[in-house]
Amino acid sequence: MGTANSALIERDLRVLWHPCTQMKDHEWLPLVPIRRGEGVWLYDLDGNRYLDAISSWWVNLFGHAHPYINQRIRDQLEQLEHVILAGFSHEPVVELSERLVELTPEPLTRCFYTDNGSSAVEVALKMSYHYWRNHGQPQKQRFITLSGSYHGETLGTLGVGDVALYKETYKPLLMEALTVPSPDCHAREPGVSWEAHSREMFRHMEAALEAHAHETAAVIVEPLGQCATGMRMYHPVYLQLLREACDRHGVHLIADEIAVGFGRTGTLFACEQADICADFLCLSKGLTAGYLPLAVVLTTDNVFDAFYDDYASLRAFMHSHSYTGNPLACTAALATLDLFRDSDVIGRNRILAAHMAEAVAPLAEHPNIGEIRQTGMILAMEMQQTDGRPFPFEERRGIRVYQHALTREALLRPLGNVVYFMPPYVITEKQIDHLATVAAEGIERATRR
Ligand SMILES: *Cc1c(COP(=O)(O)O)cnc(C)c1O
Repeated sequence: MGTANSALIERDLRVLWHPCTQMKDHEWLPLVPIRRGEGVWLYDLDGNRYLDAISSWWVNLFGHAHPYINQRIRDQLEQLEHVILAGFSHEPVVELSERLVELTPEPLTRCFYTDNGSSAVEVALKMSYHYWRNHGQPQKQRFITLSGSYHGETLGTLGVGDVALYKETYKPLLMEALTVPSPDCHAREPGVSWEAHSREMFRHMEAALEAHAHETAAVIVEPLGQCATGMRMYHPVYLQLLREACDRHGVHLIADEIAVGFGRTGTLFACEQADICADFLCLSKGLTAGYLPLAVVLTTDNVFDAFYDDYASLRAFMHSHSYTGNPLACTAALATLDLFRDSDVIGRNRILAAHMAEAVAPLAEHPNIGEIRQTGMILAMEMQQTDGRPFPFEERRGIRVYQHALTREALLRPLGNVVYFMPPYVITEKQIDHLATVAAEGIERATRR
């Protein structure tokens, strides 16, 4: 390793505690210090480069240091960096709200801002519960969630999540959600279609709603893709059945599109593929194309009106974050929406997605690849033992793929045994081919004994 990298790593390890990391790993797994980014590339301090195949944790849409987004943020910086959003307002937050309301289905008319995805989910949970309370139904306090779901890492969102690695330790501190088996199509029997499996799995949700609707505020789902649990996917029919059942049972639907929104699944929002509208739509990550922390919950007039009253009624939603609606972040989001408006991003993604499928197709024959699955710009490959059983988690096969990819100019960061691509939309077909080659090499190395 070059001297510039190692000098910064040494300083880092003296003072930092990294997210989602067993810090002891860094005794043998070197950190990668990045100096600058450009397009799909990240450059370290010694001048090595890495193709950001995971969009820096699923946030980046149009590459690093995008000239247009950079310029918009620079311009905004000269005007206003931040202002309190209670009692005050500003052009970027108003325009962003107008455009989000315009882009989402008609019933969604109100935008409430936070500064990260977890806090947006917390807002949706609190609003839903509070709505029912304001409507004289305070007993509706529970939430229904899917197995394998992920909605963030705060105590509230861990309560409605179901990824053991993040949740198990903190269980005594969490509210108890009702967890229903997921429509995840990885679990389907051979020969069964995604649609048939997802439809079949809905009976669990129907049963849960039937038994618990009276005490349930909302069902929360990640539409079409459960990313954090390992890029598990399901068919849009499940969302149609769910919307209909939530209406029938008088329960809210919260769509957490924090990971899947903004074109990841092949449509601007995943719910479009089921032609449904949630009562709460949570967006973050791609909202600012990976530039600045910002999240939003969109909701309906019906929900908004339940809180609209004289102050003394104490029905208001008394929730805030210091950086709510930050003007720089809103400007990054506006620039992002401009890029969607001014070119056919979704159409180009369709071509890229087809190319990703082609590029990895030969891996389907690999004795250690159990499944290749894809929804739009998310493609995942499941490594498993030749007899079909999962590799024990302690073997950490994914890290071997990660380590190999770094030597081949690629940032792949498998989730356990799942190797995936979730690249910025500015990736080229040639770069996809390179990723496929690197992934194949990495999987070969990682699955050897
Ligand atoms: C990332 C993510 C969150 C949490 O967002 P943060 O900004 O990391 O708090 C919530 N839900 C889903 C589906 C996510 O992928």
